[in-house]
Amino acid sequence: MSADIITAQGLVKDYASRRGMFAPPTTVRAVDGVSLSVERASTLGIVGESGSGKSTTGRLLLGIEPSSKGSISFDGRPIPAAGTSEWRRLRARMQLIYQDPLAALDRRLTIADQVREPLDVHNIGDAAERRERVHELLAAVGLRPDHGRSYPHELSGGQRQRAVLARALASRPEFLVCDEPVSALDVSIQAQVVNLLTDLQERFSIAMLFISHDLKVVRNISDRVAVMYLGRIVEEGSSEDIFREPLHPYTQALVSSVPQPGTPLKERIILQGEPPNPANRPSGCAFHPRCRFATARCRSETPALKQTTDDRSVACHLVAVSTAQPSLEGVV
Ligand code: SF4
Repeated sequence: MSADIITAQGLVKDYASRRGMFAPPTTVRAVDGVSLSVERASTLGIVGESGSGKSTTGRLLLGIEPSSKGSISFDGRPIPAAGTSEWRRLRARMQLIYQDPLAALDRRLTIADQVREPLDVHNIGDAAERRERVHELLAAVGLRPDHGRSYPHELSGGQRQRAVLARALASRPEFLVCDEPVSALDVSIQAQVVNLLTDLQERFSIAMLFISHDLKVVRNISDRVAVMYLGRIVEEGSSEDIFREPLHPYTQALVSSVPQPGTPLKERIILQGEPPNPANRPSGCAFHPRCRFATARCRSETPALKQTTDDRSVACHLVAVSTAQPSLEGVV
């Protein structure tokens, strides 16, 4: 059995776009050659500004959207075409947690009915077994049995996200895509939901893709981190390495905004220029208009994502490849 529950190779997602009624159609590339893998029972965090392709990557992995190019394997087998019965069976093993729990829940149904829904859809257990499982799931996410009789608007934001989690866990998934799962919640509730996710992951051996623009949360929950910029992964490595010594200039800017426990606050690197627009991709390294180290080469040549050590990959012309101490020292 492979250590990875899901792997993706060279994922590309293009959308057709038109800037005006009479303008010719163009193609916008939201995801541009993403390769990644998530180990069983571990968490890969994906960070980057809006427009970086984080959420699209998550949807491609689940097969909710078809990729324009590339391949995805789940548990060692290619993901079947969306909409087929084989894909629907597989979807029971992969679930999505949305950003806004109120939008994810149906206002007309009780929480218990919605938690039971995946069991009905996938025909799991008889009526009594489903009732019992709903009680177990509500308890697992810290909700009382009477919360099951409530409607979504009668619960707090944190309780709703717990209900969404209970529903996602109903079919015993092995892989969760969590897309900004705490960003719509009060700060005081965010830590509780993150702790709950970690507990549930340990208890049920679930792998997670944790998508967020909040680096503090990503650092707390992730084993590995992939940093995306304009549809590409520009750095990937263990969470510890990425936050201790970020190598890509974009990662350095992101990490500089997060206080590191036990280390003095470093000088904050303020990113210049506008956040990326996939419809207007700069030449060469897409980060070059905002990069303080950009050279002429950066404007014309796109850096490939290359392994710098056994455990880290970076896409930057100035980061040495396969050296013991990859670093931008000397140019900084
Ligand atoms: Fe900056 Fe050049 Fe590296 Fe891109 S390739 S991150 S522009 S130094």
